[in-house]
Amino acid sequence: MRVFLPPGHARHDPDRIVGSGMAARPYFERPGRVEALLRALRAKGLAAEAPRDHGTAPIAAVHDAGYLAFLERAYEEWRAQPGREYDLAVRPNAFAVRPLHRRPTNIAGLAGWYLSGHGAPVLEHSWSAALSSAHAAIDAADAVLGGDPQAYALTRPPGHHAHADLAGGFCFLNNAAIAAERLRQGGVARVGILDIDVHHGNGTQAIFYEREDVHFVSVHSDPAGLYPFYAGYADEVGAGHGTALNLNIPLPAGATDSLWLDAVERGLDAYVGIDTLVVSLGFDAQRGDPTANLAVTADGFRGAGQRIAALGLPTVLIQEGGYLIETLEANLAAFLDGFFGARATQTQPLEATP
Ligand SMILES: [Zn+2]
Repeated sequence: MRVFLPPGHARHDPDRIVGSGMAARPYFERPGRVEALLRALRAKGLAAEAPRDHGTAPIAAVHDAGYLAFLERAYEEWRAQPGREYDLAVRPNAFAVRPLHRRPTNIAGLAGWYLSGHGAPVLEHSWSAALSSAHAAIDAADAVLGGDPQAYALTRPPGHHAHADLAGGFCFLNNAAIAAERLRQGGVARVGILDIDVHHGNGTQAIFYEREDVHFVSVHSDPAGLYPFYAGYADEVGAGHGTALNLNIPLPAGATDSLWLDAVERGLDAYVGIDTLVVSLGFDAQRGDPTANLAVTADGFRGAGQRIAALGLPTVLIQEGGYLIETLEANLAAFLDGFFGARATQTQPLEATP
C-alpha cells in the first residue's frame, strides 16, 4: 500500500501560539499525531512518500475560488494591518453567523466569513500544509485510479469539516472530498465516502448533498451533544439528485465497540452500486479522546477495517481526526490488521508494497 504524507505539515502547529491568547486549553490537532501514525506504518514495513504538486485545479474542483484565495493570502494580509504585525494567527473576532450574510472585503471581516470557529486559525504555514495535505489525498486517489487496490493519505491538517467555502473544526481543505472528486473525474462512476471519524463530516456532506454520484455515509457521535453540533442528524438524507444518498448514523455518547461496529456495518450495507470507496479515517471514537465522547477501542477499529475490506472495493484511506495520541499507533495498526486480514481472503491480489 502506498502512503502519502504532506512533508510540511508540522509547520502548521497552532499549539505553539496558544500563548498569544487563542485558548486556555491545548490545540489537539498536533504534529505528534502524525509521528504516532507513522510508527504503526513503519512496523508494517510501509514507508510514506511526499505527494506530487498537483497545483490548485483539482482542489478548485471542490472548493470556492474566493475561499482558496483567502486561505492563500490571509496570513500576509492580516499581518499587514496596522497593529497586527506581531499577530501570529488569523483569528476572527466576529463570525458571519445567521442572519449576517454579506461578504466584506476587509481581512478581519473575511476571516469571520471563511473561518467558522477558533479551531481553524490560519498561521504562516497553514495554507502550504493544507495544500500539501490535499495533494497527498489526490495522489492516493491517483494510485487507486492507476490500479492499486488501496492507498492511504496521512493527511494533516484533516479535512472533513471543511465546506466548499468555509473552514471548520481543525480543517481547511476537504481532503476526502477532493479525493472523491478526483476519482469521479478519473472515470469512477459512483464513489462512496464512509466517514468513521467521531465527529460528523459536515463539510463532506454539504459538498455532495445534492449529488447522485457520491454517496456519503457518516457514523458519529450525536451532534446534539458534540461538534459539529449544527449538522449530522439522521433526517439529513440528501436533496435533489442526492436525495436518499446521504446517510447519517448518530450514536449516543458512551457507545462502545459493538454498537459502533453495527453502525459501520449498517452504513456499508446502505451503499448502492458504488465502484470505489473513500474512507474518512478518524480514530477519535477512541475511548478517552479529549475531543469526543464515545468508547471505541482498538478492537473496534480492527473490526471496521475488516468490514470495509470485505466490500472488496478499491479503497482510498484519508486520515481525519484522533487526538489521544498515545492510542493512535495501536489503533492504526489494528485497523490495518483488520483491513489487510480481510483483503487477503479476496481474489484481488494484494501488493506487499513497502
Ligand atoms: Zn473528529
